[in-house]
Amino acid sequence: MPGFEVFGAEERKQVNDVLESGVLMRYGFDGMRNGHWKAKQFENTFAQRMQSQHCQLVSSGTSALTVALASAGVGAGDEVIMPTFTFVASFESIMILGAVPVLVDIDDTLTLDPKAVEAAITDRTKCIMPVHMCGSMADLKALKQICQKHDLLLLEDACQAIGGTFEGKPLGSYGDLGCFSFDFVKTITCGEGGAIITNSEKYAIQADQYQDHGHDHVGTDRGAETHPHLGYNFRISELNAAVGIAQLDKLDSILATQKRNYTIIRETLEEVKGVTFRRVPDGGEENYSFVNFFLPSEEKAKQAHQALSKSGVEACFYWYTNNWHYINGWEHLKNLKSLGNLSSEIKTQIQDLNQTDFSKSDAWMGRTISSLVKIGWTEAEVKDRAEAMKKAIQSVV
Ligand SMILES: *Cc1c(COP(=O)(O)O)cnc(C)c1O
Repeated sequence: MPGFEVFGAEERKQVNDVLESGVLMRYGFDGMRNGHWKAKQFENTFAQRMQSQHCQLVSSGTSALTVALASAGVGAGDEVIMPTFTFVASFESIMILGAVPVLVDIDDTLTLDPKAVEAAITDRTKCIMPVHMCGSMADLKALKQICQKHDLLLLEDACQAIGGTFEGKPLGSYGDLGCFSFDFVKTITCGEGGAIITNSEKYAIQADQYQDHGHDHVGTDRGAETHPHLGYNFRISELNAAVGIAQLDKLDSILATQKRNYTIIRETLEEVKGVTFRRVPDGGEENYSFVNFFLPSEEKAKQAHQALSKSGVEACFYWYTNNWHYINGWEHLKNLKSLGNLSSEIKTQIQDLNQTDFSKSDAWMGRTISSLVKIGWTEAEVKDRAEAMKKAIQSVV
């Protein structure tokens, strides 16, 4: 997955364009910037690549989620449905707005279970936020139907699945809004950065304003601009955007390499009795950044994970006991350990996460192992890795 593996002369050239003018900011300084508008250029190219009308770059994937929610009017007391298996950014981005995360079970797609989603809807629900974890996607068709029926927003977190598709559409472009991360370990990186895509002109304008203190971005005198509503600073810098331009150029070749490497590992593991694979919803194509598979039981999965690391196979993840990606590790959320007071809406509305039954999620996550797919591996290296994985897993099943 990591785009940093292919960082090179192209990225340096883009950054040098910015360094030569010295204009590190994305707005203003028109005369000094030698015609370089890196953030703007990235936004235009990315919107096209993602078959969307609008793109807004921001400082991170986490801020992309917050800006997307804010741009669609989500605020204090609104409920946002999210999965138990995701990165902590999901609830962080919701709670910072005073909105309330509602956690629901995942299924064998390792993403939101549409039935669990429907059961969690209340009259305060405003948004459903599927997270396309580890390169594959939620059942977007079912989720969209639920959103239409209940008049809810569909916000896709595509931070880990850039380049995957559903019904021929790029992930992130199927819902009302889609979010991406370009942090240092993502499929393409800006160092730090994120993006929102949407076909809604209203959300696009509001995202543009919100991420820059409410600036209306009308005219050529920044200081004279007005502020139609409150905002914040989630801007990206020109330096980060410049890196992203070079990385975006490499996206298709990264995806092709990932697919080749994924296929070698997948076909080898298919020969192991007892190993099954994560379900990809009908109409979906992964971005091939991870191979995600199930062992027959939690115990076997733990043993297989140990056997993999003992035999020197790096970058295999057992998320079930990991601090960052599954509810089991989120003591701080379960016990609402915030530095200051949380909004009263969050305190009164949030489910008691120490008591909620997530046994369905546990049943899938306890059995799941994910192998990262690197871009830098040669074909021979991937074959060796696949054989080593096969041997290690066979030793426990
Ligand atoms: C990385 C990631 C984020 C957050 O992105 P940052 O750029 O690191 O803030 C959000 N959601 C998912 C699923 C991620 O993997």
